[in-house]
Amino acid sequence: MRKLLKNGWILTMDESDHEYRHGDIVIEDNKISYVGPAKDHENIDDIIDASECLIIPGMVNTHCHVPMMPFRSLGDDCPDRLRRFLFPLENACMDKKLAYVAARYGMAEMLLSGITTFADMYYFLDELAKAAEEMGIRALLGESVIDQPSCDARNDEEGLALGEAFIAKWQHHELVRPILALHATNTNKAQTFQKAMKIVEKYDTLLMSHVAEMDYEMTYFAKTYGKTPIGWLNDIGCLNERLLAVHCIHLNDEDISLMAENHVKVAHCPSSNLKAGKGIAPVRDMINKGLDVGFGTDGASSGNTLELFSLMRMFAGAQKTKYHDRSLFPAQKIVKIATMGGAKALNMDKEIGSLEKGKKADIVMVSLEGVHMFPQHDPYSLLVYSANAADVKHVFVNGKQVVNDRRLAISLTKLRQDLAANMEDFDKKAAELSKTIK
Ligand SMILES: [Zn+2]
Repeated sequence: MRKLLKNGWILTMDESDHEYRHGDIVIEDNKISYVGPAKDHENIDDIIDASECLIIPGMVNTHCHVPMMPFRSLGDDCPDRLRRFLFPLENACMDKKLAYVAARYGMAEMLLSGITTFADMYYFLDELAKAAEEMGIRALLGESVIDQPSCDARNDEEGLALGEAFIAKWQHHELVRPILALHATNTNKAQTFQKAMKIVEKYDTLLMSHVAEMDYEMTYFAKTYGKTPIGWLNDIGCLNERLLAVHCIHLNDEDISLMAENHVKVAHCPSSNLKAGKGIAPVRDMINKGLDVGFGTDGASSGNTLELFSLMRMFAGAQKTKYHDRSLFPAQKIVKIATMGGAKALNMDKEIGSLEKGKKADIVMVSLEGVHMFPQHDPYSLLVYSANAADVKHVFVNGKQVVNDRRLAISLTKLRQDLAANMEDFDKKAAELSKTIK
């Protein structure tokens, strides 16, 4: 099967950021077999007119908790929301079925906004993997291990065992790539980190963890160890290229140097960090030191929307303001982080992240027809400062078209009804908890 995306404005995001103002892409099975100037092609089965579209690589979301959709718009402005809302509601109401229907809904939101790959930490991973297969999205899924009872494990030992079993089961899947996740540096013990690192080494995969996110985490590490969380991870032998460190808001220069020397990957989540008032991660300094940084939406409880358009705009504003520098992070660099940066952070840059011959056909076509998309002096600027998720028109993952003219193959109404039908207990408990903060 050969599909032709004809005459689009292609931003390849390859090493040299090649651009084709009038370009074609040919998809052959699950790969890109041609990208370049528009020309005649033979043996084409299907042609999609791209003349009013920007064509970019599928966007990469390096950090999410996709089944947390039920939490969207709940307790957003409540201090200590994690312990007031999240932990109690998760333990009381989150089960296999809710995780599955919520994950499908969240994946729909990602696909419709041009995210073709995401990395997630949560529970009930078989349900998430099944949902990813059905929705046709590329997913890196890690069991979330924490040193307290969670929704699918009584303690961290059980969590690690579940995590390893999941990796063993799904390790050769085309769309699902199993990883492992530890909740955070301040909610897991050193031995748990070390055991988790052994598991990811054994299976050649990634370990995701929230790191250096909270003020109280920094105080705890300073008081208990006289260290930062990064210094502590280094001491216990867990600071290496397999670690995908999420947030990394509170880093000093020494932390950044240590991370760079050890090739740590970073998932930066500006929408969730800014909403919580936690701080602005020193992304300029991390990138200057050569760290691979990608964007993460975080879950719908923290970042609210699972798309990268509004996030790119927030990122630009936050970094330029933090460093008082308008010229910092030109739009082209920001689109790079949303695509290739994410692919590098997930160790997948040989397969995805740019539009190049031989790479997986994960492709997004963004419409230029909206009122806010004209004039068109700079396509990257349009993507970062003008476009929104609703401009995404067609999306391909692994060569398969999963969004066609802004619609998924599966009905969004049905996905929403399925989620709502499974949220009765959740809604009741959420209403009770909400009363306690009024
Ligand atoms: Zn998170």
